[in-house]
Amino acid sequence: MVNVAKNAGFCAGVKHAVDMALELAEKYGKIYTIGQVVHNELVTKYLKEHGADVVELTALDTLKPGDVVLIRAHGLDKNLEQKLVDRGIKLFDATCPVVKKNQKIVEEESNKGNDIIIVGDKDHDEVLGLMSYAKNPIVYKESYKIEFPSKPTSVVFQTTITAEKMEEIDEYLNKLNKSQNLVVTFNTICYTTKKRQEETAELAKTNDAIIVLGSKNSANTIRLYEVAKKINQNSYFFQTIEDVKSNLNYLKDYKKVSIVAGASTPPWLIQEVNKVMSTTQKDAKLAQETEMTKEATSQEQTKEDKELTMEDLLKSNKSMGFMVYKPGKRIKGTVISATESGVFVAIDGKKDGFIDKADACLDGAYNPADFVPGAEIQAIIVAVNKDFVSLSKKEVDAKLVEEEEAEKALSAGEFELVMTEVVKGGLRGRLGKYTIFVPASQIKVGFVNNLEDYKGKKLRLMIMPPKDAKEGEEGEEKKNSRYLFASQRMILEKEKKEKEDAFWNNIHVKDIVEGKVKRFTQFGAFVSVRGFDCLAHVSELSWNKITDPSKVLNVNETYEFVVLKVERETGKISLGYKQLQKKPYEIAAEKYPIGTVVKGKVERIFPYGAFISIDDGVDGLVHVSQISHNWIKDANEALKVGQEVEAKIISFDDENRITLSIKELLPEPVVEEAPAEAAEGEEKAEEKPAKKSSRAKKFEEKVENAKPKRGAKKEEKTEEPKSWVSGSSSTNVLAEKLKALVAETAEEEKPAKKKASKKDAE
Ligand code: SF4
Repeated sequence: MVNVAKNAGFCAGVKHAVDMALELAEKYGKIYTIGQVVHNELVTKYLKEHGADVVELTALDTLKPGDVVLIRAHGLDKNLEQKLVDRGIKLFDATCPVVKKNQKIVEEESNKGNDIIIVGDKDHDEVLGLMSYAKNPIVYKESYKIEFPSKPTSVVFQTTITAEKMEEIDEYLNKLNKSQNLVVTFNTICYTTKKRQEETAELAKTNDAIIVLGSKNSANTIRLYEVAKKINQNSYFFQTIEDVKSNLNYLKDYKKVSIVAGASTPPWLIQEVNKVMSTTQKDAKLAQETEMTKEATSQEQTKEDKELTMEDLLKSNKSMGFMVYKPGKRIKGTVISATESGVFVAIDGKKDGFIDKADACLDGAYNPADFVPGAEIQAIIVAVNKDFVSLSKKEVDAKLVEEEEAEKALSAGEFELVMTEVVKGGLRGRLGKYTIFVPASQIKVGFVNNLEDYKGKKLRLMIMPPKDAKEGEEGEEKKNSRYLFASQRMILEKEKKEKEDAFWNNIHVKDIVEGKVKRFTQFGAFVSVRGFDCLAHVSELSWNKITDPSKVLNVNETYEFVVLKVERETGKISLGYKQLQKKPYEIAAEKYPIGTVVKGKVERIFPYGAFISIDDGVDGLVHVSQISHNWIKDANEALKVGQEVEAKIISFDDENRITLSIKELLPEPVVEEAPAEAAEGEEKAEEKPAKKSSRAKKFEEKVENAKPKRGAKKEEKTEEPKSWVSGSSSTNVLAEKLKALVAETAEEEKPAKKKASKKDAE
């Protein structure tokens, strides 16, 4: 069985540098990298072929202003960097963030005045770069060579040092440092490197043999080999596929082999070795599985083709069947293996595919164990490289999610969609695999003048039943089940109807509702209640007689109204406002307690008395007997319409009738001094009530009878006036009654008068 280590191949830092070199080369045509981007000849060759050539540190003088130069993942001497910038070189930096962090520590610690010890290879580019950030750095490779410092010292490690070596040195320094506290160490080894080393150690324990792949110039690959070899003697270091093939005679005898690779080893080398080892080994089961998977995914592939190695395939001009690797195309493939870098996939055609770990999962939680060799996989072609095809599974997953959501949206009945195109007769947008067409008439309720106004806008849509989808684009597309007609108007109309139903079902006569005054007309005010226009007639706005609604209400203000009439058939609702307000007499009752002196204007005069307006819509009656201390026969004798008078409220009965007296505000008449007998007689006369004429007595009696009695039965009251409202029918009724009484009294007096005049004549 052949297994590829999870952490095999390009690390993040190297991958970033390689990608950046390729991108810059494509953009500028030709670029230079300072030294090899990675210590691997295959990668260097590949980059050169794509326009990214190497310029050695010793040959930087050959660069010309304007040349594009890339600093690789290991970083660069900062002084050199500045010189290149000063010379007008276009400098791009692909220094790995882990190395950058190391540089920063060195610079900060050095600025503190500490000596700097760098544990690593003094000829390694990363170390050379680090040294430029310290004032007087000392580089050690082995612990026993370290001389204990005499002043505060900070120790950092080259990122590719093994974890064991770092611990060994740390321990050694700790021992020396015991009491002085002069040395502080920083763990600056690369996490990726550490993980890779730990995994290699683990695999070395559990496998029959370990194949370490990569360049012998790569420090971290050499470290991996050291780690593996220390544990498992059957550890082999190969640089190329040829190395592996030439050793197959003994490699094939190992039942369990793991492939590990340094951070600079290209993915396609790992893939090739995996393939050669898998097909060569006597692990028949895996070989068979691989063959079966291949067969399933590539029917045109011949038996002969299957036995070809990756390298053979790359070199071969022989067609494996027509396959156009078009970016964006969705393809199916079979997982060959999965490492920490990504997934190798067998696909149709001459090339194999590679899914970078960043493109493997939608949620970014890539786990190589999730990609089982032989499993079918769907991916989208992202780019076509010389030796392999870059694929993205993430994009396929995103599309699958999109399609799933599209199906959900369609089955939910209503969905939102951004309209991306204006086409003949309407708008178009994409929902998953569906094209959605919205005819112009279905965009809203009413006519759409300019379709462009809706381009890029989100509409709420529902799919139209086939019988309704008659408008818009004609032709084959209509027959396509992925071309659907949708409407926003249907949703809006449905909602309107639901809103109307809810409104009419929840409004009843006598309900108190809130309404906003929208506008006035001659006959009242239009009021919006829950979005519906209702009418409050002018006669229902005030207890007083008004003709202008603005005397009571303001436009755009909200008031409470009572519902007077609901007519769903005609869509009319009548509201009242005055019904929720106090009546003028209720206000007057509070405002004018009995005894209050009020000013008012004489409104109407009858012989029996005068009606005085004391407030808007509130009248009081001054009976003729309450006008003066002197006897007055007819109120017209003392008062005039329009005259302003002061009067005192002497009663306010349950029927809202106000009785006033002017007399009570007038001074008592002065009685002249009389002779003693006369005075005596007057005193006697004062003791007795003044003798009233029989006419006056009768009049008062009848007026008294005409007044309502407190506690009188209701039926008896129905005929009587309810209040002294100006111009009200009740006032008029009472006035008429009193008028009749006066006439009646006068008639009754007539015979007596006649008699008296006859007597006088005699
Ligand atoms: S090995 Fe670590 S430090 Fe070096 S480039 Fe890769 S990620 Fe960066």
